[in-house]
Amino acid sequence: MTAKVIDGKQFAAKVRAQVQVQVARLREENGIQPGLAVVLVGEDPASQVYVRNKHASTVEVGMASFEHRLPAETSEADLLALVKSLNTDPKVHGILVQLPLPAHLNSELIINTIDPAKDVDGFHISNVGLLGTGQKSMVPCTPLGCLMMLRDHHGKLAGMNAVVVGRSNIVGKPMAQLLLGDSCTVTIAHSRTKDLAAVCRGADILVAAVGRPEMITGDFVKPGATVIDVGINRIERDGKAKLVGDVHFESAAAVAGAITPVPGGVGPMTIACLLANTLTACCRANGLAEPEGLTA
Ligand code: NAP
Repeated sequence: MTAKVIDGKQFAAKVRAQVQVQVARLREENGIQPGLAVVLVGEDPASQVYVRNKHASTVEVGMASFEHRLPAETSEADLLALVKSLNTDPKVHGILVQLPLPAHLNSELIINTIDPAKDVDGFHISNVGLLGTGQKSMVPCTPLGCLMMLRDHHGKLAGMNAVVVGRSNIVGKPMAQLLLGDSCTVTIAHSRTKDLAAVCRGADILVAAVGRPEMITGDFVKPGATVIDVGINRIERDGKAKLVGDVHFESAAAVAGAITPVPGGVGPMTIACLLANTLTACCRANGLAEPEGLTA
């Protein structure tokens, strides 16, 4: 193996520590405590784990955590009323509605009811538009985490060829916008892309957000490229449950210059960036300078 392994766990710990310092300073100097409200509807097991982790991480950095667990049969009207009350609650600076929502609820309507200034997931249509036009916005956590790791590894990204495999609204598209914002030459690939391996081999930065276990193998990777694996796939191998990415780690690491592992790569950065976004939202709401290095 030749590639440097980018340690997302360690980097996320550094980001969380930075957030913690800033939160303490806000309390001491301004008497303000940033607050994050997380809304979970129903009992999806994976979502329950995510929400539990978010709560623990929020409290750990000194922020206030407000959890709202609602039954699966909650009506749209009731959920909208909760979101609207959080919008006007001065103790709440960030609001996250855990997705996926039960099928009878209109996710777009719910997300677009969140005050864009409190939309720490960055999914509100206003934030999508602001990001797309290069204006200050709330940036989706997972691509923000990828960008932070890339900036940390490379310094400036300007002029690099970046290929993002995947065009979802939560990862692929915002990732491409962020790389474009840092002056990369960006290609977005997807299921209809012809000769995907050749397209990927043109990348100095290759971001895989496909949702297909180990699909991106070493022959997709340009020698020395940086590979960011966003994928989280639960598979069974040799009778055991295993977590793997969208990249085939061993073959890609033999060619790449740097690579994120799964687990321990992009995953831990997502929650760290949620905390960073909540801090940013709190500073903006109070007319205070934003902490450096924690936003796009
Ligand atoms: P998604 O909404 O399912 O989107 C997947 C994208 O991959 C689509 O744009 C799809 O293309 C493309 N694709 C699928 N098969 C392909 C193929 N054979 N060749 C080329 N492109 C292909 O998934 P997502 O929400 O973006 O998530 C992607 C992965 O990241 C998943 O493994 C997910 O679990 C993971 N994830 C991780 C985090 C984290 O915190 N680390 C956060 C979010 C997501 P079309 O548009 O043409 O269908």
